[in-house]
Amino acid sequence: MVDRQRTGTGMMKPMGALPPEYAHQSGALTIGGQSAAAWVAQAGDTPLFVYDSAIVAARIARFRAAMPAIDLHYAIKANPHPALLAAVAPLVDGLDVASAGELGMALAVKPAHAISFAGPGKRDDELAAAIRAGATLNVESEGEAARGFAIGARLGIAPRMAVRVNPDIELRGSGMRMGGRASPFGVDAERAAALVREIVAAGADWRGFHIYAGSQALDAGAIIETQAATLDLAARLADAAGVAPPLVNLGGGFGVPYFANDVVLDVERVGAALHAALETRAVVLRDTRFAIELGRWLVAEAGVYLTRVIDVKHSQGEVFVVVDGGLNHQLAASGNFGTVVRRNYPIAVAARMGEAAAAEAVSVVGPLCTPLDRLGDRVALPPVVPGDLIAIFMAGAYGASASPAAFLGHPPALEIVTSVQPQP
Ligand SMILES: *Cc1c(COP(=O)(O)O)cnc(C)c1O
Repeated sequence: MVDRQRTGTGMMKPMGALPPEYAHQSGALTIGGQSAAAWVAQAGDTPLFVYDSAIVAARIARFRAAMPAIDLHYAIKANPHPALLAAVAPLVDGLDVASAGELGMALAVKPAHAISFAGPGKRDDELAAAIRAGATLNVESEGEAARGFAIGARLGIAPRMAVRVNPDIELRGSGMRMGGRASPFGVDAERAAALVREIVAAGADWRGFHIYAGSQALDAGAIIETQAATLDLAARLADAAGVAPPLVNLGGGFGVPYFANDVVLDVERVGAALHAALETRAVVLRDTRFAIELGRWLVAEAGVYLTRVIDVKHSQGEVFVVVDGGLNHQLAASGNFGTVVRRNYPIAVAARMGEAAAAEAVSVVGPLCTPLDRLGDRVALPPVVPGDLIAIFMAGAYGASASPAAFLGHPPALEIVTSVQPQP
């Protein structure tokens, strides 16, 4: 594997490719029609996440064009920023949430019948909130179903319930496998039909199956295989249960290219294969609707994290660019969120897009007193001086809300959505 090469005096390490909207820019970085510096001036400070809702809209349009007529759900844990959520909600068919907190955010922008609630540890008060609102519970165990029946009876409401299945399938090459093994998520496939029968017998409103096999896959072939196996599984389970599912949520797992040599997922190929698989689906699924739930594929590339250079220092032949943002806001870029080997996210000097790199590689480090706080490891950047803005791309998913903001007592990052006013 070639992941190092010599440039000048430092050992350079590669970084991921800039998203297509930014890759060919030169001069000042522009996000949503305005320069990075202007966004910082508008928000008032750094560090700042800028989310371009037009990029999210473009990803959704690409999905719709590539896929057969199925529903698209947004998994809001990828980025629950209220203004972004408000921009995305009208463009998708459903929102998937995983806590009562997320449920509340989703209900602010989407009707309850378009919201589903997954997660292995739903408390009674969370079940009650979902049942009262009329959101669908993606039931994760027999015990959770029983608690849901009791709460529904107390409230006088038939709960809407889908069965989340722990599939006997895994998504090959997935960054985070969530199927094919013992799991806190879902009911093992061999017990799913029995649980469906219980739900129907209890008088609950059975909504179908939720089958999620993994995340961050870049290989279209792996996703195609998994979707075909998921359709087969849904048909087998429906036959065994003796009822046709109104909806089958086929999961998602569409990945994004964070790192050097990552390929871009061929969604058009996935869509063509799913179209063909649906054409020949089992009779029991003839009247079923299908959904795919995506998080990062919709929003990751829409986010840029902007942080200001405080100091440029030299130590033992290496150059450190010290910035005011770090893993407290953007844990994933430091390599401490779901990756085994630390690799570089795409990074640029915001005022010098397209300029040639300086002879020496630099490491971009945050202000935290831990060696983990490294946003770029020996990357090739144009010359950097204190006061410059550094842009870290692929920051729209699992950034601000997935980072330990309280660690070391720095203020939270600002967040702004293009064409929307800043939100604290
Ligand atoms: C986290 C999660 C998602 C979103 O995953 P991405 O990799 O961001 O697309 C979707 N569905 C479920 C059940 C999840 O847990």
